[in-house]
Amino acid sequence: MTGIDDLPIREELKGKSPYGAPQLDVPVRLNTNENPYPLPEPLVQRIAERVTEAARNLNRYPDRDAVELRTELARYLTRTAGHEVRVENVWAANGSNEVIQQLLQTFGGPGRTAIGFEPSYSMHGLISRGTGTGWISGPRNDDFTIDVEAATKAIAEHAPDVTFITSPNNPTGTAVEAETVLALYEAAQAAKPSLVVVDEAYIEFSHGASLLPLIEGRPNLVVSRTMSKAFGAAGLRLGYLAAHPAVVDAVQLVRLPYHLSAITQATALAALEHTDTLLAYVEQLKQERDRLVDGLRALGYDVTPSDANFVQFGRFEDAHAVWQQILDRGVLVRDNGVPGWLRVTAGTPEENDAFLDAVKDLKKEQE
Ligand code: PMP
Repeated sequence: MTGIDDLPIREELKGKSPYGAPQLDVPVRLNTNENPYPLPEPLVQRIAERVTEAARNLNRYPDRDAVELRTELARYLTRTAGHEVRVENVWAANGSNEVIQQLLQTFGGPGRTAIGFEPSYSMHGLISRGTGTGWISGPRNDDFTIDVEAATKAIAEHAPDVTFITSPNNPTGTAVEAETVLALYEAAQAAKPSLVVVDEAYIEFSHGASLLPLIEGRPNLVVSRTMSKAFGAAGLRLGYLAAHPAVVDAVQLVRLPYHLSAITQATALAALEHTDTLLAYVEQLKQERDRLVDGLRALGYDVTPSDANFVQFGRFEDAHAVWQQILDRGVLVRDNGVPGWLRVTAGTPEENDAFLDAVKDLKKEQE
């Protein structure tokens, strides 16, 4: 039988696996860091109105530069990040994965390298590979914070073209201090002019502030964001970045013409009209996240401090076996392949109760 590797695919893709969080039909799914709350009905209605309007013009290509949407995203960032962001600082694409892909197509590519500090978001490495960019796995401390000394050393040694910093980090939940980002940025620029990407997919759930103000005066620093988590719109596929206007101009060199459909732009604009309602859910989820942390600790599990909408817990001799035992109790969590640890996404109070009951049951069984 012909398999992928029998096809004349690129050498560097041979033997690799695609991104694959299992999509299983289980009563309680806490494995992909989604927001558990469906969009509120008035927003669903507003989306229908906006999409209906857009549908009347579907014979035409959409606004290639998504100016209205980028203006509203800039307004949201200015309001929430304590820093003035203008339309020319913002770019949007189909999920922050596409934002990252466009950045790597522009600043990475064959003969170039990108570095990330692992464990971290696996797609940084996968999209690097997909764009022909060499991937360098940088170190972390045992508590999953970035080891600044080792990280700056790795940057000096490899002189990467792109440096990824994920804050809060996935799958550990660890926030990164501004001083750490600045130290890594300085180290990167000292090695050679290169791009530093701060992936803030989960920043709305953080105890601390966004690192977005750091883009001021640093044209090689980019902050990437998404509407998949805090806005509860993973199905929409809308990611965006904030950076110096020259970065926004640079990604135009690789973006596909009309990459953001008129339907996507209309839907995202409707969601942005309901920002306050959606951010109220974020507050609830932060409380639920803290309840998961406390509940897991009370049961005697180790928990990594979390600034995201998920919690890393352990330590297990065989994390995958525990993942299966939790699944057998009707709750799907995530095995990210971090030895000894699993990750659970904060769901509704009922879902979190079901998860806590499942892990309590496991503890009892082990006693
Ligand atoms: N960055 C991080 C750190 C993530 O965890 C994710 C999603 N799991 C993304 C980016 C991509 O999100 P999206 O493409 O849905 O915006």
